[in-house]
Amino acid sequence: MNFNFLFFTLFFILFSRAQEVKTVFNDEFIKSCGINNEEYTTIKNSFSKYIKDFDVSTSVNYWIINEKSVFDYPDEDFVNLMLESQKENLSIFIQAIKKVNPDTYQIELSFLKNIDCKLEIYTVYKVFAKLTKSEFKYINNIDFEKKYNKYQTKTITFFSENSIDFNQANVFEEENKNLSKFFETDIINFKYFKSKSVYNFMSDRGYLLERTMLLPNQNGAETFVGENLIFSGNNSEVNIHELTHLYIFKCFPNRHNLIDEGLATYLGGSKGLSYKEHLKNIYLSIKDKNINLYNELFFGNYVVDDTSSLWYTAGALLCDIAVEKGGKKMLFELINSGKRNIDLFKKIEDIFSVEEDKIDDLLKHELKRKYDQYYP
Ligand SMILES: [Zn+2]
Repeated sequence: MNFNFLFFTLFFILFSRAQEVKTVFNDEFIKSCGINNEEYTTIKNSFSKYIKDFDVSTSVNYWIINEKSVFDYPDEDFVNLMLESQKENLSIFIQAIKKVNPDTYQIELSFLKNIDCKLEIYTVYKVFAKLTKSEFKYINNIDFEKKYNKYQTKTITFFSENSIDFNQANVFEEENKNLSKFFETDIINFKYFKSKSVYNFMSDRGYLLERTMLLPNQNGAETFVGENLIFSGNNSEVNIHELTHLYIFKCFPNRHNLIDEGLATYLGGSKGLSYKEHLKNIYLSIKDKNINLYNELFFGNYVVDDTSSLWYTAGALLCDIAVEKGGKKMLFELINSGKRNIDLFKKIEDIFSVEEDKIDDLLKHELKRKYDQYYP
């Protein structure tokens, strides 16, 4: 998983008219939850104003900055939820408010979409609000709820809900050096949140319900490329796949998403499997089927299970054969293709001498050839 998402959504917001997000308060229930009328009215007015005037560039002013935090921007998750709400025309249902300290309240929010009078729940998220003077400021869950173990190597700041294996932390430090050499750029300093599962790191961030928390494979991760911040659910101090995304983001502004994901998988595997294991899964799954891999790749969503997908594997395969053909120089050319499909097709034609209508043949042929090579 990779969160170039923020940049995509920012782009979306700049070039489309944002919908105003409606807020609805669950008045009766909240009033019965031990907060008085005055408190309730203050919270309600303050939150409604924040949402009504919501602006990505000033949102952070409503939040308490904590320099020791995992996030540089405490509103990062909330901003993404608001952008999603504007894009998808979601409403925010304030379902519960609970007083947790004399001056601090927990606010539970459901993000809902009304589809023909059927309410679809997108996300349930909680946030803390602290009364300072006469205004509320919001606190990121991750700063508020738990204390995390922290460990600093030369370039990596580790945060963990459980213990940190210092030897493994040094292994990742070495891998960071290797990647900086590979990408021929300065070493990246980054923050790494080690967690036992996607569920755990999402729940630490305040999500009570969110799609990725329900996936059977909880080995995934989420990277905020703009913050050099990785949340890793693999319960390990090492995650080369996600770190590769940070280097690609830094070095290749003209990357296509397929190759971004492919190169991260080629170098670091994904969801607990290596590239070669994904290749085997995909090859064995498609070899007797009559499917068009080009269509599935660019207009479909072919997956073997929730671990191996065509998107990750085909991207990695293209990187693999580019390296075979022309080493790192050709790999860098591939990843510098340009962001649009048409740019990538042109680059595939340049490198592999294959036109767009033959990409299906190329992928089938190369999958078989590589499978035979890796599993003789
Ligand atoms: Zn990824």
